Amino acid sequence: MNLNARLNLFKRFIYLSALLFHFGNGLVAGGKTENLILITLDGLRYQELFGGLDLGVLKATTKDKNITGTKSYKQFWDNSPQVRREKLMPFFWGKWMKDHGSVAGNPKKGSSVRLSNRLHFSYPGYSEILTGQARDDLITSNKKVLNPNPTVLEFIRDKLNLKQNEVAAFASWDVIGFAVQHEAGAIFANSGYEAYVHPSPDIQRLSQLQFEMLTPWDTVRHDEVTFKFAMAHLKSYRPRVLYLSLGETDDWAHDKRYDRVLSAISRFDSFFNELWGWLQSDSQYNNKTTILITTDHGRGDIPLNWHSHSAQIKDSKNTWLAVVSPDSLLRGEWGDGAPVVMNQIAATLCKFIGLDYSEQNPKAGKPIIQLFE
Ligand SMILES: [Zn+2]
Repeated sequence: MNLNARLNLFKRFIYLSALLFHFGNGLVAGGKTENLILITLDGLRYQELFGGLDLGVLKATTKDKNITGTKSYKQFWDNSPQVRREKLMPFFWGKWMKDHGSVAGNPKKGSSVRLSNRLHFSYPGYSEILTGQARDDLITSNKKVLNPNPTVLEFIRDKLNLKQNEVAAFASWDVIGFAVQHEAGAIFANSGYEAYVHPSPDIQRLSQLQFEMLTPWDTVRHDEVTFKFAMAHLKSYRPRVLYLSLGETDDWAHDKRYDRVLSAISRFDSFFNELWGWLQSDSQYNNKTTILITTDHGRGDIPLNWHSHSAQIKDSKNTWLAVVSPDSLLRGEWGDGAPVVMNQIAATLCKFIGLDYSEQNPKAGKPIIQLFE
């Protein structure tokens, strides 16, 4: 072998090694993400997210049919779906999706995000998100039982060797405290009507107040309380992984209170604004945090069944997913492309932080590759 041939062989070796290093473990080389925030908005329909106020639903829920006289119409209606959705979520559309992130799941653009579980209610949806796999054989109800499988939150805590309160979940619905972990206490969880111990007197007072200012539901506290606890925890204990699970959109919908569904969505947008403002101001989180926002299921599409969701109700399997990340260059709405499946979320979160989720669950969905292109 002459010198040139040896040099070529050497070059090929270097190239192949680099290729193997880059793609072999499927991880992001040189990613900026050091922190993860997962946010779920229970049963928030893609119809409202992408189109704002749905006039068909407003008609169906306004007793005297005088829709133009309703507060919801005055506050959120416009002929243009783009303007409508910005009225409902001005920060999400006007700032986040414009300058910092992207959102998949608008069928009108040819984008699809869907559940792989066939049950289309909450626990199966949360479990699919948190474990990366639908287990319709194991999860058949919303009962308060620990997740039958280890979750991505437990995996990340273990792999990064984090303290318990550095992987924290705050939820308005009590069942989430069980769904987030396979082993009790594996991560820090505060859910439903549950006291939160924190040094701030304001937070202590709020923790007491949650038991006095009750919602119409025994198992779901106000999202306002959940959000404030999560923000206090973020500032004091600096978690590397935070899961914020908000729920009022689902419960008001089941109660057919469309006006309250819209108000709840509008509040979520204010939460995002506040969260983002704080993250931007903090050196641990600024430009080092990936935020993934999604929902556990869709719900009906027509005025008769918009309030509900099940295996029998068309559109219950259709969801959406938004990502704000210093490691993803996509902006705005996704168009045509391969459908995204909700069982890919766990592996996607891991990939952002440089971990390979297939180590824990080889059967889990693979990372959503479009986010890393
Ligand atoms: Zn739900």
